[in-house]
Amino acid sequence: STVLHWFRTDLRIHDNTALLLASKAAQSLTRGESRTNLACLFVVSPVEWRGHGCAPVKVDFWVRNVEALRDTLAERGIPLVVKMNDDKKGWKAVSEVVKEVCKELSVEELFYNVEYEVNEQRRDKMVTEAVAKLGVKVTPCHDQCVVEPGKVVTKEGKVYTVYTPFKNSWHRYVSENKAVLAVRDPPSSNNHKFSSTASSYIDSHSTIPSAPSLPAYSATPLFSQPSLTHLTFLRTLYPAGETAAQTRLSAFTASRIDAYHESRDLPTAPGTSSLSPYLALGVLSARQCVSAASAANGGRRDTGKQGAVVWIQELIWREFYRHVLAGFPHVCKNRAFKPQYEGVQWTESWSRDVVLPAFPVPSTTSTPPPPLPPAPPGTPNPLFTAWTQGRTGYPLVDAAMRYLLHTGWMHNRLRMIVSSFLVKDLLVDWRLGEAWFCANLIDHDLASNNGGWQWAAGTGTDAQPYFRIFNPSNQAEKFDKDGKFVRMWVKELEWVKDGVLLRGPWEAAAKGSVVVTKKKMEECGYPKPLVDHAQARLAAIAAFKLAVQGA
Ligand code: FAD
Repeated sequence: STVLHWFRTDLRIHDNTALLLASKAAQSLTRGESRTNLACLFVVSPVEWRGHGCAPVKVDFWVRNVEALRDTLAERGIPLVVKMNDDKKGWKAVSEVVKEVCKELSVEELFYNVEYEVNEQRRDKMVTEAVAKLGVKVTPCHDQCVVEPGKVVTKEGKVYTVYTPFKNSWHRYVSENKAVLAVRDPPSSNNHKFSSTASSYIDSHSTIPSAPSLPAYSATPLFSQPSLTHLTFLRTLYPAGETAAQTRLSAFTASRIDAYHESRDLPTAPGTSSLSPYLALGVLSARQCVSAASAANGGRRDTGKQGAVVWIQELIWREFYRHVLAGFPHVCKNRAFKPQYEGVQWTESWSRDVVLPAFPVPSTTSTPPPPLPPAPPGTPNPLFTAWTQGRTGYPLVDAAMRYLLHTGWMHNRLRMIVSSFLVKDLLVDWRLGEAWFCANLIDHDLASNNGGWQWAAGTGTDAQPYFRIFNPSNQAEKFDKDGKFVRMWVKELEWVKDGVLLRGPWEAAAKGSVVVTKKKMEECGYPKPLVDHAQARLAAIAAFKLAVQGA
């Protein structure tokens, strides 16, 4: 018989709660000649990825990490069965797939780590019911957070909706329950053979399809499709596998972490860890990160070196948004956390069948950039399209958006600036921005992305009032002082001097600058600002106020 561990967003063998328990269960069920093996499963389910609007770059990263995982498991004699979910049957068919595997491998027990999103919860319920018919015992484990959702609550027993008290409570809980940080052992090796029927089933289901061959890539025009050359470049930015993730974590905690609190807001400094893609797919665990940071800080988490303390606080933001998602599942369903903001009159509203603009990734070198081809029918308004392609006329916003298209990732400070700009300056529904990030980010994570967008829109958990609006030019002067980041990504503005570059070259031209002239601006091809920030700010405040009054 077999004990099965089902991998989803926990693609690692070290510090994996469900995998370790599955391994222990296989050992304890083995008695003499009656052997119980450990096997693992990964279901390739493009219909789910497409349904969620996942970025091709993330799907590619997912598949590459499954390949790396298969090799690591093989070194321990543990097979990984890779089963394709039939695209035409829909996401619900995953339960049939898991049931078939349980049947073929005579599975006694099934283990997995819980995913908290609504659809994933539904899927797991269906799987549990399906395999129960075969008599399979199912054990879901909590592993995505250091502190399981529901364990840190207010005095009234409610889920925290404000970060700072959550963070304080989180620290208290971890200090009182040190076991939650204990890093789990990898599974023991399988040293006995599977039956011949099980072996032949495993052999015939060991092929991992390459990401570009999957229907997630081709069946819909929803995504900006990366070319193969571009994909190859992206693969060098994010090598797959636990070893790569651990190397990145060690390099960060060995030195850069000490300056994190000072450099984390500067997009050109290698100030942050860039571990988010690994955390999003569970190639690395939050426990491993907190433990490594704490080790670099003499065993402390909330006192001591500022860099480590602040970095751990960011990991607690990740936990906070997961607890919020688990406690308030309506945030998974495109709903504002605060219902009073549902009535904002956007210049463009989100709808379930929105078509996101899909253009080729713009060149970083050509100036002027080529004109945009016409957007497909159903694409939202020109303000949103210009924002997605980095053509708003606000240099730092544009640099950030082009950077996202090229690298599949964006620095946190820039995520805050571009999200505020879309929602407040362009008054575009935050859910369109959320969908665009999802369709392009390698590290997309529903809880953090939704939390980030609702934070920017002021519709979310914190006390952030809607009238606190980022000034994109001030942000540029503060966080890209010398314009280095803008020059790197908005090549057509390379020639413009620092101050003028960040405060708006078109404004300087309009005021009669002899260097940055209107003629030169027209020749370089950089677009005029879509809106005037001061006016847009007032319009946003008025629209939000009206929504709250009408609620
Ligand atoms: P570091 O600064 O090194 O932080 C370490 C880890 O802590 C990150 O990898 C991440 O897991 C977590 N973290 C850091 N900041 C935050 C935060 N503000 N909220 C939640 N977790 C955080 N993060 C995602 O992982 N996926 C997303 O889809 C995502 N979308 C976002 C959308 C918006 C509008 C905003 C404002 C933020 C979003 N974030 C998202 C949070 C944050 O921007 C990224 O986690 C961070 O930029 C990743 O870079 P890093 O790994 O170098 O982070």
